[in-house]
Amino acid sequence: MLNQKDEIALVKRFLHPAPRYTSYPSVGAWGIMGASHYEAALNRLESEAQALSLYIHLPFCERMCTFCACTAIANKNDTIVEHYLTLLLRELEHVAQITGRKRLLQIHLGGGTPTRLSPEQLERLGRTIWKYFDPDPSIEACAEIDPSATTNEHLEALKDIGFNRLSMGVQDFSPEIQEIIGRHQCLNKTEDLFSRARHLDFKSINIDIMYGLPAQTPEHLVHNANKVKALGADRVAIFPYAHVPKLKPQQKSFEQYALPSTYQRYEQFQSARNILQESSYCQIGMDHFALETDELSQALTQGILNRNFQGYTVLEPTALIGLGLSAISDIHGQYFQNAKRLGDYNKQIEEKNNATQRGYSLTPDDLIRREVIQRLMCHLDVSFEQLEQHQRVDALQYFQQELEELKVFAQHNLIVLSEHSIKVSELGRSFLMNIAKIFDAHAFPTSLMAGNGHA
Ligand code: SF4
Repeated sequence: MLNQKDEIALVKRFLHPAPRYTSYPSVGAWGIMGASHYEAALNRLESEAQALSLYIHLPFCERMCTFCACTAIANKNDTIVEHYLTLLLRELEHVAQITGRKRLLQIHLGGGTPTRLSPEQLERLGRTIWKYFDPDPSIEACAEIDPSATTNEHLEALKDIGFNRLSMGVQDFSPEIQEIIGRHQCLNKTEDLFSRARHLDFKSINIDIMYGLPAQTPEHLVHNANKVKALGADRVAIFPYAHVPKLKPQQKSFEQYALPSTYQRYEQFQSARNILQESSYCQIGMDHFALETDELSQALTQGILNRNFQGYTVLEPTALIGLGLSAISDIHGQYFQNAKRLGDYNKQIEEKNNATQRGYSLTPDDLIRREVIQRLMCHLDVSFEQLEQHQRVDALQYFQQELEELKVFAQHNLIVLSEHSIKVSELGRSFLMNIAKIFDAHAFPTSLMAGNGHA
């Protein structure tokens, strides 16, 4: 157990902004990629029997939360939402015509606020998905929801079209923090929605909370963790607030408040983590938690946990098709991202049913580094023997420089380094992104990459 002085020194030395590594390389390293590359990758899927995953981005929100760094659009104009849905369905049909009928292992509705669509619009989206694809018996179908913008009819529509999971954005339960972040969400509404979702038998409910927001203290995080625990969320994600006012001008209003320092953010996270760990939650990776009975915790124990753009999962890696504004596809070693501006997305889909704007093809070196980073982010260890079997590299030789750089992490007990493996310690878990970054051959300014919550 470190004393506070040593802890502060450790945070100062090792905890710096780093990518969250939902992909490797992270999106900042990607370049321009045209529609023809994406269509060629989709064409290759046609001859494969494997199931697919779908991510569908629904960017509209009732209002813009001040902290938000997602691709979100505050919009009350129903005509714009309806037009977007029409184009999204056109994109979906176009993809399905190329890939042919496939099983879906995973669907994720992200945003924005998916429930900015009306229940009827959600049903239309569901009907179109099932016109072209079939659900795998073990499908994970999850929708991100904002409790203040979700009705019982929305939940019923989601259930009717086969959704079995929800991810609820809360961020902070305290009215004073909600006031600062422009997100008024009364506790009764969240509790009520949670119990209605349970009544409708959604298999798993995740709650997102956030740390590092203006005026937040460790006490707020203790309060938030206790509330989440009392609700009985199956999974909890505790995301760091990313302050990027140049990219997200609405965050400039936070400059009137003192933002927590890196150490204060660390303390806030630890406060929530302690509450969850003392209860029946297992920590997954760096900042996710799941009930010990949840399949995510069991997958961790069995060593079969995976991670993709949607987060941690028990599913085998599959090709991911991203639909909608800014959506990302991950198809057998190639990433593709759709246009991020609504006007560009609409125009590209209207003209050619395809909105790809950029992407990346992984090199053999990227594939090796991706496996190392994925192992660290899921299992906190890397076995050199396993890496050699999968990637045909002698890790001690291949990563000579990286292993040298890691020695200082070992000296501070953040990892245990041997000639067989790298194992991240419990203390090192909070520095996971910084440890993974040692293997990142595309290091770039990381302030753009820290993630935010959503919905
Ligand atoms: S946090 Fe969620 S609800 Fe708020 S603006 Fe961002 S996407 Fe919309």
